[in-house]
Amino acid sequence: MSALSLELATPEHLSPHDLVTYFRCPFEMEVEHLRRLAPGTTPSPRTPADVVPLRYSPLAPPPGVHAPIIDGRLDVFSHDTLVYEDTEEEGLPILFPPEQVRPDPRLHAHGLTLVDRELGLNGRPDFVMLRASGALVPIEYKATHPFHGLHETHGRAFDVIQLFAECRLLEASTGTRPKTGILLYGDQAGDGAHEGWVEIPYGDAGDAWVRHALLQVREDAVRAPVPAERNCARCSVHRDGLCRFAEGRYLGP
Ligand code: SF4
Repeated sequence: MSALSLELATPEHLSPHDLVTYFRCPFEMEVEHLRRLAPGTTPSPRTPADVVPLRYSPLAPPPGVHAPIIDGRLDVFSHDTLVYEDTEEEGLPILFPPEQVRPDPRLHAHGLTLVDRELGLNGRPDFVMLRASGALVPIEYKATHPFHGLHETHGRAFDVIQLFAECRLLEASTGTRPKTGILLYGDQAGDGAHEGWVEIPYGDAGDAWVRHALLQVREDAVRAPVPAERNCARCSVHRDGLCRFAEGRYLGP
C-alpha cells in the first residue's frame, strides 16, 4: 500500500474534547486541533478566508440532554467497584473505598488512554464503575454544580457529548456497549453543598450519534466559525489572536 493510500485509510484522530469543541464552534476545533498536532507553529486551518460564519452549531445535539438531575450524592453500593480512574486528572473526588478499587486490565492496555482504532477516537473518562449487575458505567465529573442556571441545556449538551464519546471508548475497549453513563456534578467551592448527578441513556441511539458526529466532523471541509458571545468569551483561539471572526460576534443569548 502506498503512503498516500495509508494516509487515506487512517481516519483523522479525534478526541472527546474535539467533539465538544466542534459542537461549540467548528473553527475553534480546527485551530485547536492543528495547534495540538504542531505545537508552537502558526496553524493553517482548512476554513476558507471568505467563509460565511454560522449562527448556531452545525452539529445536532445528542439525545439525553433533558434527563433529570438527581440532587444529592451519587449512589455507590458495596458490591459496585471502581475499575478505572484517570489518576492524572487533578481534583477528582474519592468515590470508592480502597477495597472496592479493582482496575480492569482491558481499560489499561494503553496506559490511561482508551483507544478506539475503528473510529479513530482516543480519550480518558474520569472514572469507570462496574455495577454489581455487571454493567460498566463511565462517570464524567464536573467540578461545578448543575443548579442556579450554570448548566442550562446548551452547557449540558457539552457534557453529554463528552460522556457519549467515553461510552464509545469503553465499548471499543471491552466489547460491551454501555447502557448508560453518568455525569457527576460537585460544587467544591460550596463544600459539597450542591451535588448532583444525571444518568444518561447511551445504547444504540448514543452509538449512532457518536458515529454520525465523527463522520460529520471529518467530512466538514469548511469548519465554519460560530461567533457568539457565549462561545467567544472564553475561547483560547480568540485569546491568542487567531480568530478574526470574533469581532463581529453575536452578542445575544
Ligand atoms: S473566537 Fe468565537 S468564532 Fe472564533 S474560534 Fe473562538 S468561538 Fe469560534
